[in-house]
Amino acid sequence: MTNHEAFMRQAMELGETAGREGDLGIGCVIVRDGTVIGRGRNRMNTQRNPMVHAETDAIADALKALGTADLSAGAADLSAGAADLSGATLYTTMEPCPMCAGAMMNTGIRHWVMGGRLKAVGRVIGRYTAESFVAFVDADVEITTGVLAAECEALRNRYFRK
Ligand SMILES: [Zn+2]
Repeated sequence: MTNHEAFMRQAMELGETAGREGDLGIGCVIVRDGTVIGRGRNRMNTQRNPMVHAETDAIADALKALGTADLSAGAADLSAGAADLSGATLYTTMEPCPMCAGAMMNTGIRHWVMGGRLKAVGRVIGRYTAESFVAFVDADVEITTGVLAAECEALRNRYFRK
């Protein structure tokens, strides 16, 4: 099993938890220097918050763990690196949506590893793909695809309620 697959399996476990709890079966881990620094899962339904996708949940978790998410008085200048996850790699069981791709870009995550693809599970957002987003905003991001893709797509679909 490659490192990519090992971390993707951890993301899939979080996706399983999300699915059991009543959310979409999508999970995410953020890794830096070989260590998981953030874990997230889709919690839109359980938190009644459309912004809590697996990726944004993992970003919030990483920032909290690193102590860099205190945006209270005096620490609100993001340009000073308050929300900096550069050097990190993000593993998500599904191709990130545009909201999450923006959050990933803004926190400086430059390596995106994805399992399933939106189109493969019937989630078509116009001509959007993670690759087209990166090209559109001219972001310096490396994308790795196809890591346990079929299993990740099955996981997401297992808990999808039409
Ligand atoms: Zn998203």
